Amino acid sequence: MGKANWIDRAILDKIMREAKKNGAPVFRIDGFTKGDKFKSLVFTILSARTKDETTLKACEKLFSRVKGPWELAGMKKREVAKLIYGVGFYRQKAGYLIDMANRLVYDFDAKVPSDFEKLMKLPGVGRKTANVVLAHAFGKDAIGVDVHVHRISNRLGILRTKKPEKTEERLKLIVPKRLWKHLNIALVGHGQTTCLPKVPLCSGCVIRWYCKRIGVKKSA
Ligand code: SF4
Repeated sequence: MGKANWIDRAILDKIMREAKKNGAPVFRIDGFTKGDKFKSLVFTILSARTKDETTLKACEKLFSRVKGPWELAGMKKREVAKLIYGVGFYRQKAGYLIDMANRLVYDFDAKVPSDFEKLMKLPGVGRKTANVVLAHAFGKDAIGVDVHVHRISNRLGILRTKKPEKTEERLKLIVPKRLWKHLNIALVGHGQTTCLPKVPLCSGCVIRWYCKRIGVKKSA
């Protein structure tokens, strides 16, 4: 198998099936967002440096109080911080959420834009968040590179990068475009259940035959 085709649909499906079977929290996100693009954006902003289970709880609490950007835009920072307490940097993120909601209301007709550059203009939104929202909420060809995607791509040995931006660049060269939008969810699920950050569970990994295990010092 050449590097240009390093990952095909069958491999992605295999990883996803296994991660679902093992209860990866990432697959519960769709049950929460139910196609709502604003919920998807809020979830992704809150999920930075926070486990999906914790983010889901915070989002459920927040959305028990707000329906969309209008309500969130009018809230006080301390109210929002209280609702999302538990996520990393919750005070800072509370401020981002309110500013982001205001920007949506005043500049985007209270709708989440489906354009990378416009998304990047929203407070609290960086490359990863913009790409994840484009792929998950809009079904566009984008690769959101978070810690799981960055770590696993390097461990597999299909690229060697230090920064997520470079990982995104390299992945776009070696992964077929039609798979880009599925890559984040598959690798996040794999990272949450098998390719764990500290001690990956290599002996039970469904793609161990393929992986070069670069940088893995200890595994189970
Ligand atoms: S073999 Fe180990 S390091 Fe490689 S993808 Fe599987 S769990 Fe991760």
